[in-house]
Amino acid sequence: MLCLAENKKIVVIGIPGVGKTTLLSKIVEILKDHEKNVHMVSYGTLMFDVAKENGLTDRDELRKLPVSEQQRLQKLAAEKIASHNEEVIIIDTHAFISSPEGYYPGLPEHVLKIIQPTNFVSVSAKPEEIYNRRMKDDTRNRDKITLANIKKELDVQSGMISACAVITGAPVRLVLNGEGKVDEAADKIISAIGL
Ligand code: ATP
Ligand code: MG
Repeated sequence: MLCLAENKKIVVIGIPGVGKTTLLSKIVEILKDHEKNVHMVSYGTLMFDVAKENGLTDRDELRKLPVSEQQRLQKLAAEKIASHNEEVIIIDTHAFISSPEGYYPGLPEHVLKIIQPTNFVSVSAKPEEIYNRRMKDDTRNRDKITLANIKKELDVQSGMISACAVITGAPVRLVLNGEGKVDEAADKIISAIGL
């Protein structure tokens, strides 16, 4: 029987500053060296592109929009992602967003149904490392940073990603992005998912 390899849609989540974008750039570099047809999308960038057409100018203002508006942008971004058909699609996103109304899911059921992920990767690091990474990254306009908040966010992340796995049936690989160990974390993801 002929068995065609299924395209992979890998959703990578982690709280801000954990190192998703750094890690994914590394993975894309490695996969392209192996001539894989891979495409990386940043959910936040897609949402911001749509929001810019509606007058928003600062990416970090996105999470302060009314939740209903963020949900509208979220759906439009999901539809753009679903229209890709590369062999491997890697989606850089958050399992939840801290908004003034509270934590709201980055991957609610209606979004998961549009994207249809095959795998989840949940990136974490030591709270102290995440704290330092946020502090030194001055390209972003981040909310007030405390260690206690980072610990709480790591807890919320774990609950949100479990819900995603249950809704979709797709597995979750937990990966630690240790200090100075981006290459190691990238290799773990590549071999775990069989990329
Ligand atoms: P956001 O959700 O806000 O986009 P992110 O998870 O994509 O955040 P990055 O922008 O990739 O995080 O990384 C944040 C900072 O941490 C950057 O300055 C990056 O160089 C640094 N960093 C990422 N991974 C590591 C690591 N393993 N060791 C040391 N520094 C790291
Ligand atoms: Mg990022």
